[in-house]
Amino acid sequence: MSARLLNGNAIRDQIYAELAGEIASLGAAGIRPGLAAVLVGDNPASRLYVNSKIASCKKLGLESFLITPPAAISTSELIGVVGELNRRDDVDGILVQMPLPAPVDTKRILDAVDPAKDVDGFHPINVGRLVAGRPSLVACTPAGVMEILRRSGIPVEGAHAVVVGRSDIVGKPMALLLLHANATVTICHSKTRDLPGEVRRADIVVAAIGRAAMITPDFIRPGATVIDVGQNVVTSAAEAQKIFANFPEKLESFRAKGSVLAGDCHPEVVNVAGAFTPVPGGVGPLTIALLMSNTVRAARMRRGAASLGSAAVPAGRQAANS
Ligand code: NAP
Repeated sequence: MSARLLNGNAIRDQIYAELAGEIASLGAAGIRPGLAAVLVGDNPASRLYVNSKIASCKKLGLESFLITPPAAISTSELIGVVGELNRRDDVDGILVQMPLPAPVDTKRILDAVDPAKDVDGFHPINVGRLVAGRPSLVACTPAGVMEILRRSGIPVEGAHAVVVGRSDIVGKPMALLLLHANATVTICHSKTRDLPGEVRRADIVVAAIGRAAMITPDFIRPGATVIDVGQNVVTSAAEAQKIFANFPEKLESFRAKGSVLAGDCHPEVVNVAGAFTPVPGGVGPLTIALLMSNTVRAARMRRGAASLGSAAVPAGRQAANS
């Protein structure tokens, strides 16, 4: 039996429709939320990500600003750029696209962003608020996963959730959001002794590893919900053939483009799971949707949230999945 596919594009569209109403009412109050994207250097993948974030701002009627410092910028100069954005009243949200060039001290840059404008949710103050169960701006990808679960009617309370990956941007905040939504949470990583055994106990699996097709069907308890955060570009024909042997349209796409996107879960997981997010079209669209939602929330928070109504995806919902 094939799993129910959880359509991230449809959920993103729902969130955009809700945000459009909110942006219109902010507009009526003379407020146009603004997002500033800082793109350092000319990494093509980063440029692609930033362009799609700016395009989403335009689609929703948010103001956007693209700042493109050269790759040779120093840490202190970049702190200066961020400081200027912190002071600007027309900027509600700041995102610094990762990765930064190696000489730049990434932690110092992330710490320099005003927590009230930290729409990526990476600042230690926002991470601390999440740990304490008082979230304000939450990391977009894990918050997006919670929206997929909530809007797809997948019960989280009491479920055993296994998160594979413990990065600061996905795995750790993911585990905290699931915990605050009353799941029993196991976090796995590269030193986990029996990964298949741990994952097999899960009602909900979140894979955020960065290794193509690593979670194979034998890891999955039949009927479990599987959320695949991974986005891995496969460029080897042999690897593509191995992963997508039973998916001729993917192999066709590989032949046409010389690469194909694979999740962290093997595509055959769809034959065991009860519900499954495809790659692409699962978690990916939610990351940008939650960035937009965080920008609107940041605009409201800076002006006094209570007087301006509620966000399409309130922080409480991100945390409680209720
Ligand atoms: P990351 O910082 O590289 O973290 C990877 C995590 O996976 C680490 O905690 C690592 O464990 C763990 N891991 C690596 N190999 C493992 C193994 N063999 N067994 C068990 N655990 C293992 O990656 P990330 O930034 O969290 O991203 C993860 C994936 O999500 C990537 O494919 C990335 O492209 C994707 N992503 C997608 C979106 C989206 O919008 N869809 C957003 C962000 C990231 P250790 O800590 O022990 O090293």
